[in-house]
Amino acid sequence: MRGIAVFILSILSFSVFASNKILDVGLYWGEEPSEITVQAAQGSFKVYGNGKDLIELKKNTVLRIKSEGGLLHVRTLSEDLGTYYKVELNRNSWGNTLKIQRAGRTAVHEYHDDFEMKPLRGKIRIINHVYIEHYVAGVVESEAGSKEPKEYYKVQAVICRTYALNNRRKHEAEGFQLCDKVHCQVYHQKSKSNPDIIKGTQETIGIVIVDSDINLVTAAFSSNCGGYTCNSEDVWSGSLNYLRERIDENCLEENHSYWRYTTTRDKWLNYLSTNHGYPVYEPAAKDRALHYCPDRRQHKLGSPRDGIKFTQIRRDLKLQSAYFSIETIQDSVILEGHGYGHGVGLCQEGAMNMARRGYPYDEILHYYYKSIHLVNLSVIDFFRAN
Ligand SMILES: [Zn+2]
Ligand SMILES: [Zn+2]
Repeated sequence: MRGIAVFILSILSFSVFASNKILDVGLYWGEEPSEITVQAAQGSFKVYGNGKDLIELKKNTVLRIKSEGGLLHVRTLSEDLGTYYKVELNRNSWGNTLKIQRAGRTAVHEYHDDFEMKPLRGKIRIINHVYIEHYVAGVVESEAGSKEPKEYYKVQAVICRTYALNNRRKHEAEGFQLCDKVHCQVYHQKSKSNPDIIKGTQETIGIVIVDSDINLVTAAFSSNCGGYTCNSEDVWSGSLNYLRERIDENCLEENHSYWRYTTTRDKWLNYLSTNHGYPVYEPAAKDRALHYCPDRRQHKLGSPRDGIKFTQIRRDLKLQSAYFSIETIQDSVILEGHGYGHGVGLCQEGAMNMARRGYPYDEILHYYYKSIHLVNLSVIDFFRAN
């Protein structure tokens, strides 16, 4: 199947269909500003009020937009341009960027492509109509920082693109597709800190992850799996055949590979019995709760049927992961933990390490996601259209 997908990919790779190219991203979601200033950072923009041509926004022209009485009031420093229920800013040429600054804030965010603004209960709803690869590069920078090898940015670009397309209906009721917060994917602004992020995005242009039925996958990832990834159903309810547990030796020496949590013996036993009815009065169960050293990731403390889920203990005690051993020294109970995050799917620190050691991005993705295919978006359209 992989061979077929690659074959079709080579035929159709230049025909990514327009429907997949532009995303509508809600900016400043949940903290929409009531007033902003915008400025062309690169190139110029046409500004429209209720569809009517208002002004050309050239470099150094500042436009102030304020939500007032259910409309948007638009003005430059010298001219009042009126009030409108919809304001649009469209770039005059490819690559142009716009800077947005919220009133009273120092941070300035720079974005590509086109914008639509509408009043929203005294605030401004700002939607960025952004070319998907511009968006993906911005998300990769927010998710992965600026110090990784290019091959890792390719891994993250494919994951972010797959997520974006798989979640295009998430904010449909609000009039856009994805928000810019962790609720969807963090998108602070265009990528600008490391040219390898843009190169990595371009070198994987249009590539997404699909399962054996050519459906986009849920490309789950977490910071560090602690040496053993989880099955999807160990953490969430559904079982997905590409999110399978596996040993991962790539993340054992990384930043988040180890953690420690200390409490008292009384508090620990009391927590287990009071919160979860754990049988601390049974000597064998008590001993297991005080001395536990698994040689692989397990899912429950106690019996497989009615033990306590480690994911529950993680939530209760706000631990970095649900993968730990238990050691008791006199009155102290020490949880020695591995990894950071839920552990399902790709392990970011393991993938970064593989990229640093020269593994190509496709091998890294196949290492963490079982039986997947990497295909161009056009392949999905091809299958759906036929
Ligand atoms: Zn969202
Ligand atoms: Zn790992």
